[in-house]
Amino acid sequence: MTKEQYIESLREMDLKVYLFGELIDNPVDHPVIRPSLNSIAMTYELAQKDEYKDVMTAKSHLTGEVVNRFCHIHQSTEDLKNKVKMQRLVGQKTASCFQRCVGMDAFNAVYSTTYEIDKECGTKYHENFKKYMKYVQDNDLTVDGAMTDPKGDRSLSPSKQEDPDMFLRIVERREDGIVVRGAKAHQTGALNSHEHLVMPTIAMREDDKDYAVSFAVPSDADGVIMVYGRQSCDARKLEEGADIDLGNSEFGGHEALVIFDDVFVPNDRIFLCGEYQFAGMLVERFAGYHRQSYGGCKVGVGDVLIGAAALAAEYNGVPKASHIKDKLIEMTHLNETLYCCGIACSSEGHETMSGNYEIDLLLANICKQNVTRYPYEIARLAEDIAGGLMVTLPSEKDFNHPEIGEYMKKYFKAKSGVATENRMRILRLVENLTLGTAAVGYRTESMHGAGSPQAQRIMIARQGNIEGKKELAKKIAKIDETKNK
Ligand code: SF4
Ligand code: FE
Repeated sequence: MTKEQYIESLREMDLKVYLFGELIDNPVDHPVIRPSLNSIAMTYELAQKDEYKDVMTAKSHLTGEVVNRFCHIHQSTEDLKNKVKMQRLVGQKTASCFQRCVGMDAFNAVYSTTYEIDKECGTKYHENFKKYMKYVQDNDLTVDGAMTDPKGDRSLSPSKQEDPDMFLRIVERREDGIVVRGAKAHQTGALNSHEHLVMPTIAMREDDKDYAVSFAVPSDADGVIMVYGRQSCDARKLEEGADIDLGNSEFGGHEALVIFDDVFVPNDRIFLCGEYQFAGMLVERFAGYHRQSYGGCKVGVGDVLIGAAALAAEYNGVPKASHIKDKLIEMTHLNETLYCCGIACSSEGHETMSGNYEIDLLLANICKQNVTRYPYEIARLAEDIAGGLMVTLPSEKDFNHPEIGEYMKKYFKAKSGVATENRMRILRLVENLTLGTAAVGYRTESMHGAGSPQAQRIMIARQGNIEGKKELAKKIAKIDETKNK
């Protein structure tokens, strides 16, 4: 689809969306939501450009057609690396979360897992999923990969919760399909997605059978309700003529609570239904792919933030100060370290039983663990360079005011030859990325998106092979354990 076709295709959907306590008639043109739609639209726009076709598109192994890489099932480590490069590129172009990756990561996790379930259980989930994937590729859809359940009491498993709906579950099994109830929280890009591809959120035991479910439904299916998540400074987008104060007036990201109020899923759209022993595999694979993703998207956004900090210094007249140069070097070092991790876990990827490619799970978890820290340090340095004005600057209305506007321009002017307005724009961009609407995607999402830090540490513990490392040390130190008595 072209960017325009994508936007039109969403307009045709009958989504049930709540925002600020109101049912929204037209989410596509709503000023609070629209920037996030523009970010996904960028994934369509770039895919049409010749110069980006290697990273933005791929040849489908299902149809032989060229597809948007966001709809691709990875066929090589080259594909895995190109995925990360694509994410860095789109991050650079939008300076926000462009949302479409959760679907791509879900596709690849569900693809390989369904193959292995079928092999062991004789089910037909992989066939269902391949058919679904063809539909997604043929129509160039954006799909919300929906994993995170509300989870209730974190110490209790899904079936032991006081409220049985704290994890999404099957409430009815019918001849023609199933009925599901529950919710998925923090759903990135949910309102801008044509479909929701649902997966379980944790490994499960037999008691949790009804919770081990994966399926896809259109976003406007009966019973699907979406509630937009507030972001810091979001109401600025509702101010008349808002532009400079937004920091990034064109792009953004969003998350939503997606409620499944007894939603019917037909048989051919079910990819897991009770095989609880595979829930953990699906979670681990999706998380692995999404942790790889952060080595691309956050790096691209980081590129913009580093550029903004450098410009802020330039506009202040101090680009040559040695501490400024050193801080920019440090920011670059941190940002490129994240990129190294994204590329490394891709290069070290391997083929799964189903034939698609999976990242190296240990390295992907290391990647995301670093992402829980470095963007915070990059943001700290950007704030350091920008100066306090990024949070004390009067509004653009004051700058445009007939009486006090001139004072604004005079007293907020820094280096000669730089328009005060441009200085404001850069400071507002730094504010947007570190404290405003985009901070959801750049800061807190760096911490909690694709799993909170502890989730990666559990995986690192499992994959780190401490026993093997002990053997290495024993050999070098010439340890004779028979002497240990
Ligand atoms: Fe994509 Fe990054 Fe947003 Fe996840 S956080 S959807 S990887 S842009
Ligand atoms: Fe995310």
